[in-house]
Amino acid sequence: MKDIVLTGDRPTGNLHLGHFVGSIANRLKLQNELDYDKFYIMIADTQALTDNANNVEKVKNNIIQVTIDYLSCGIDPRKVNIFIQSQVPQLFEITSYFLNLVTVARLQRNPTIKEELKVRGFNNAIPAGFLTYPVSQAADILAFQTTLVPVGEDQLPMIEQTREIVHAFNNIYQPKSQVFSLPKPILPEKKICERLPGVDGKVKMSKSAGNAINLCDDEKTVKQKIMSAYTDPDHIRVSDPGKIQGNVVFAYLDAFCQDKHFKKYLPDYENLDQLKQHYEKGGLGDVKVKLFLNDILQELLTPIREKRLQLEKDIDSIYEMLFENSKKASLEAQKTLQQMKDAMGLNYKKLLEKH
Ligand code: ATP
Ligand code: MG
Repeated sequence: MKDIVLTGDRPTGNLHLGHFVGSIANRLKLQNELDYDKFYIMIADTQALTDNANNVEKVKNNIIQVTIDYLSCGIDPRKVNIFIQSQVPQLFEITSYFLNLVTVARLQRNPTIKEELKVRGFNNAIPAGFLTYPVSQAADILAFQTTLVPVGEDQLPMIEQTREIVHAFNNIYQPKSQVFSLPKPILPEKKICERLPGVDGKVKMSKSAGNAINLCDDEKTVKQKIMSAYTDPDHIRVSDPGKIQGNVVFAYLDAFCQDKHFKKYLPDYENLDQLKQHYEKGGLGDVKVKLFLNDILQELLTPIREKRLQLEKDIDSIYEMLFENSKKASLEAQKTLQQMKDAMGLNYKKLLEKH
């Protein structure tokens, strides 16, 4: 059986470098190399509302922004079905059945939820929809019989939760022939790309934490963000020895720098190890390292920015594509929903026929 790939993003803001290395790079690789059966990218607008209930406009506007980000990076809409979560009603019916297979305590133990609750500052006013979004995410994944989910590290607990739901469903309703198979995450190759830190060095780069370098940021903004990024607070003079651990600029170099960049932009060094050694010894200033990073990131982002300008000229056809794709996704999800209901014995039509 060929793989079915599904992944997605919340339309809470433009996509950033964390998305690029955490998930988009793998999506591009799979799109171009894997012999898959179906490939979906879901724009999770309903999930975004779980912590943005009073900010519908933001979520709505970012649907097109996120889609343009995908297309600018090279996601090919002829190969990948990009659709909008809220336009596939079956997902919410599936969620309802799954909610009965999960305990509140289990949701409260989810480490990503715990961290997000802290960042969002809900205190004692946690929206029930937010606490339960991992269940809705399980429905998104399972509605399409997904086998592979390319994601960053923060999504592993969600996939674990999804796998538990598959076991629970199969145990209760379908002990013999199974409705769902177990989806697997695909993480980036480099550890640092699983969870790219934000420019503040505090938490992961995230749209909601305001610490991101966006794929659509202009040249000047990118440079400004890099020049003010967190490094080593004890590295005050150029001659001071500097720390690599926790230093955001070196984290980004780990993620994006290749040996060829040294030849082009910093020929005094051969590779990143040499640069790190010099920094740790002392005698290498932050500004020089930051300007090198800026060269690398501008090289990556310039073509993405240019493609975006082209795409922005025909927004209508992008919306049409999204709505067409959502209809197709809905038909697929309907098949799964029917299989689920059959497995559960939730078939009232048969009852009516008997009477
Ligand atoms: P929000 O703050 O609204 O939750 P986000 O920036 O966390 O937004 P999501 O839409 O939640 O972005 O995440 C989409 C995908 O991108 C997920 O697969 C997630 O693992 C990945 N991702 C997000 N941030 C990072 C990051 N900093 N490093 C690596 N992967 C990331
Ligand atoms: Mg997130």
